[in-house]
Order: sequence, then C-alpha cells, then structure tokens
Amino acid sequence: MSHSLVEIADRSIAATYARYPLMLVRGQGATLWDDKGRAYTDFVAGIAVCNLGHCHKRLVAALQEQAAKLWHVSNLFYTGPQAELAAWLVDHCFAERVFFANSGAEANEAAIKLARKYFKDRGRPRRYEIVSMELSFHGRTMATLSATGQDKIKQGFDPLLEGFRFVPFNDIEALRKAVNSSTCAVLLEPVQGEGGVNCPAPEYLQQVRALCDEQGCLLIFDEVQTGMGRCGSLFAHRQFGVEPDIMTLAKALGNGLPIGAMLASEKVAASFGAGAHATTFGGSPLVTAVALEVCRLIEQEDLAQRAAELGKYFREGLRRLQEKHPLIVDVRGRGLLVGVELGIEGAKVVDACRQRGFLINCIQDRVLRLAPPLVIGRAEIDALLECLDEVLSEV
Ligand SMILES: *Cc1c(COP(=O)(O)O)cnc(C)c1O
Repeated sequence: MSHSLVEIADRSIAATYARYPLMLVRGQGATLWDDKGRAYTDFVAGIAVCNLGHCHKRLVAALQEQAAKLWHVSNLFYTGPQAELAAWLVDHCFAERVFFANSGAEANEAAIKLARKYFKDRGRPRRYEIVSMELSFHGRTMATLSATGQDKIKQGFDPLLEGFRFVPFNDIEALRKAVNSSTCAVLLEPVQGEGGVNCPAPEYLQQVRALCDEQGCLLIFDEVQTGMGRCGSLFAHRQFGVEPDIMTLAKALGNGLPIGAMLASEKVAASFGAGAHATTFGGSPLVTAVALEVCRLIEQEDLAQRAAELGKYFREGLRRLQEKHPLIVDVRGRGLLVGVELGIEGAKVVDACRQRGFLINCIQDRVLRLAPPLVIGRAEIDALLECLDEVLSEV
C-alpha cells in the first residue's frame, strides 16, 4: 500500500470508518486493482452500488459527454437529462412523480417529510407517526436515524426525532398492534439489507399493504439497496405483488455517482408543491445523464433477470457448502443480494477472502453480505465458492 497516503488518510479524515488495509486505484467490470497492481473480484460493489460494474464503457461515455456540456444549473431551471430520467422512472413503476436527492438518507428524509405533510394537508396534524422495523436501516441524518431500528448506531445522538415506533420485521401481528390513527406511514425495506439480508415471508408485504389501506396510512418502501435490479426484479417489491405509495432509491441508481430519488403517486406527491422541499444538487444534469444510461442499460441487458438467475445459482452453491461446513448457519437473499449467516464472527473470513483476492463484507457481525455487480459471471461466483470452501475449512 502507498503508506504515506494511508497515514495521511488516517490522521486527516474523520475516523468514522474502520477501513480494510487496501488502497484501490482502478476498476473494470467486477474486478478492482490495488496500488500494487493486485486484482480482486468485487463482491461488495460499493455496497450494492455498482450494479453495472466498474467503468462500464457506456457509462464512461455518458459521463464524459455530459461533462463537456453542462454540470449544474440549479433546480430553478429545466434540464433535459433530469426530465428524461424522471420519465423513465415513472414509466417503470407505480409512481407518477419523482423528487431527486443526492443520497439514500436524503431520499428517505424527503419520504418522511412528505408522509407527514400529506396528513397535515388533510387537516390531520397529529397523524405523524411512522412505524418502521427493528434491524432496519434508513440512513444517518437525524430523521432517517430516528427511523432506523438499530440502537447501536443511534447511541450518542439523543434526542432523536419523535414519532417513530418499531416492530419486528416480518411480524404482521406486531405491526397490526402498532398502526393506528396516529400513523402516517409504515416504512420498510422489502428485503432488509444492512440488518442482515432478511427476507420476508412471501405474503408479508401484501398483508402490510392491506393493513395500511385498512388504517388509511401510507406505505413507504425503502428500495435504496434492493432496487435497480439487485434483487432479481427492477424493484424488489414487484416480486411480492404489492405497490407502495412512496418508494425511495439511491445506491445503484447512479452506479456510483451520488443520486437519490423519492417517488410517489400523484395524489401523495401533490403535498410537495413549490417551496415545500428543495436541494441544491439533487438531479443535476451531470448525475442524471449517467443515471438515465444506468436505467437503460439495466433494461436493455436484462440485468434484473440475470440477477435472479445468478442469485439462484449462487445460493445453490452456498447451500452445498453449508452441507459441508456447519459453520454456515443460513443462506438467504433475493437475486444478487445474498446473505450467509455464520456461527462465528465474520471478520476473519472477510480478511482471508481478501488475502485470496475476493472482496466481501460482513454485517451484523456474523452475516457475510455478497452483493457483486450484476454483470458478474458464473466463473467468478464459482471461484468465490471455492475460496469460501478453503477459508471455512481453516477458520
Ligand atoms: C444505504 C442505505 C440507505 C442510506 O443511503 P445513503 O446514501 O448512505 O444515505 C438507506 N436505506 C437503505 C435501505 C440503505 O441500504
């Protein structure tokens, strides 16, 4: 590693991340190279961000073309790429309007504000509670942290925003008890990402939808991690046969350029009129030009279907490993969002894989999260399975 830069980073950058001892300098497809020229197969993808892999030719071209034309003008003006991206998104889901932000947290922040304002506008100012899930993750801003069901990342930031309640994920009876006439929205990830790649029972999301309709509250799906083909359909909720009132996107929407989006039906979005919410950078022509190309590529190359097939193949291979290695407690996931729960802490496995040229990461101490670019191939998956087989024999 370039030690001087690592030392500078360690003493100059806020120490909020415990980093792996790796300086990455280049990427192509599902491969990354460090500063010594060593190659790694990437099963992190920038945390489910680079669905099209690194430096996809058409994305580089879209970025370069727009970079030479126009970067930023403010949302006081119209720009073409933003309009085209919004049109693409609303053509491909339940929503009729999009608010562009710069991150997942900001997209969720907008969703929380919209859900509250929707009921304020209807003369129900006390209907402001949001019910979300234990082990959920919605972001690190104060409102989205307040909505997040993980105490360990909330510590030290009291007082958080009021009006959030938590129930166990995938427990419809618990949700039934928590939702009432004070609830403005139920907020959840169709598949929990940071919480451990937790999948709901097939009927759960439909039950949640029915309960929201019964109680007259909104349903918000946080698809920041699960969206854009990752789980085997363009948006994960499609597989469950339900539609939300609001959906948030971010991670893979820009394949690495910062963008978030909050999408809503016309009826709900009507509460975001002129001046109700804003952002300086959200939806800039530079970022939306690339995101539009991301969307087109995901569709043209049928990457959601590819994620579904490869994910199934991957889990089958992991289940074969599970028969051999009792250290594997569970294999789960949807599409190429794959979780491997271990009976031990995963840090050593992550390190051993990295030493063998594979980048993976571990969440909730014991769950390996495998989220490669959707353009990855079977040979690379086979190679990781072989590596895991070796590593699990040794630890
Ligand atoms: C990553 C993530 C967020 C936060 O996104 P940022 O861009 O880091 O603010 C929110 N929700 C989910 C489900 C996520 O995975």
